[in-house]
Amino acid sequence: MKFFKRVETVQNFDKPGRYILYWMQGAFRVRHNHSLEFAKYLCSKYNLPLKVLVIVDFSYPEANFRSFKFFLEGLKDVVVELTSKQINIDIVAGRFKDALKPYIDSAKIMVTDKSYLPALKNIKKAVYAESKITVYEVDTNLVVPVSLVSQKREYAAYTIRPKILKHLEDCKNDFEELTYKGAFLNPNIEINLDKIEDELLKQNLVFVSPAPYIGGYIEAKRILEEFISRKFKYYKDKRSDPNKDIESNLSPYLHFGNISPIEILNELKNAEGNSENYYSFQEELVVRRELSFNFTYYSNDLTNLENLLPSWAVKTLGDHKGDKREYIYSLDEFEEAKTHDEIWNAAQRELKNRGKIHNYMRMYWGKKIIEWSKTIDDAYKNMVYLNNKYAIDGRDPNSYVGILWCFGLHDRAFKEREIFGKVRWMSQKSLTKKFDLSEYVKKYGKANF
Ligand SMILES: Cc1cc2nc3c(=O)[nH]c(=O)nc-3n(C[C@H](O)[C@H](O)[C@H](O)COP(=O)(O)OP(=O)(O)OC[C@H]3O[C@@H](n4cnc5c(N)ncnc54)[C@H](O)[C@@H]3O)c2cc1C
Repeated sequence: MKFFKRVETVQNFDKPGRYILYWMQGAFRVRHNHSLEFAKYLCSKYNLPLKVLVIVDFSYPEANFRSFKFFLEGLKDVVVELTSKQINIDIVAGRFKDALKPYIDSAKIMVTDKSYLPALKNIKKAVYAESKITVYEVDTNLVVPVSLVSQKREYAAYTIRPKILKHLEDCKNDFEELTYKGAFLNPNIEINLDKIEDELLKQNLVFVSPAPYIGGYIEAKRILEEFISRKFKYYKDKRSDPNKDIESNLSPYLHFGNISPIEILNELKNAEGNSENYYSFQEELVVRRELSFNFTYYSNDLTNLENLLPSWAVKTLGDHKGDKREYIYSLDEFEEAKTHDEIWNAAQRELKNRGKIHNYMRMYWGKKIIEWSKTIDDAYKNMVYLNNKYAIDGRDPNSYVGILWCFGLHDRAFKEREIFGKVRWMSQKSLTKKFDLSEYVKKYGKANF
């Protein structure tokens, strides 16, 4: 198989079992899913059937009604497609460890998707430690597998870019769909997703109203096609303009693994549009995104700024910690969009309403939280809280790295100024000089709520 380089043997135990288990945990799709294909390969090798398992863990860190709804919508596409291929899938509600136990007991081998956030890596490590079963993790949500690119945190885009480009062509073309030659389990007619949706309503979850995006592969493909037909040709020049709807809006689908970044690249390659737009998109989807995954994968913890920022940023922010703040807002005031700045308030309302902020405004949103918080640590905590609560693409490596970029991560030093020290600052004046934001403010103004 061309993609063995994506497969990592986590542990080896020779044990009998009735099936090969694929614990679908980060790549909630059937198409372009290397983990699924690897599990199919093992089924052929051992002449065993395949069992796909999805665990809906309502205690998942920071998940809420909005994110679960999107996630469950996406599972519908998975169920329909696997069932049409006569592959058995179980969807169960419960904590990962408890829900997995009976499946691991019955399986010969477990395959699962690679995780890139320390919290999830630790949960999985604890599960593996108690399970005497061979485990393979497959890196299917990145174009170039994280451990193939580098074995350490990279300093910035310019250091990771050549390491990614070295493997890019090979990795973009390494997907193979195998014919399933394993035995068949009875298709599971009784996968009761509706029952799990009912469970969702009964949970004591933080209620955040659903965002205007529907989860799943089918919707991801529709959004990709819309991007290709209407926006792609303007991507390089107009992507940054908050008034123009040129972004792809694929980030929620990438976050839930509803679509593969390789499939996106392949579709764009075949699309009309000049190569400048293609390379500009590739820079974001592959270099910037995979720089984020590199960072969180090689971080043990994402809470302590001192361990997360480059030393120059820690020093300069520390030098300015006593600087006077003209405005200081509480978490509630930020959350309710009650600052003096109508542009910032509009961005916060966009986050709450749409579940996503336009990329350029996301930077402004973050920089101003730093400027208007009592301390740098408060700013980081509040930003992570708000982003992960409302963003449908939140709780992602890109969330943490996007936020940390506002504090100087993967960036360079600028002219020193108050509060920020040498960390890049953004002013409302330069923002409004670049873009006329009256339409944006009107669009996300109070009237919408
Ligand atoms: C404060 C802050 C918070 C952020 N929080 C998140 C978050 O929670 N989830 C998230 O996915 N991204 C986050 N980002 C990064 C970026 O803003 C989004 O990835 C992008 O806006 C997603 O929209 P899109 O899919 O329409 O982007 P497009 O422009 O269509 O880009 C396509 C894909 O490329 C990747 N990409 C684009 N821009 C970036 C970038 N700057 N860094 C890394 N990858 C990028 C994303 O995977 C994106 O889906 C954050 C940035 C900042 C400054």
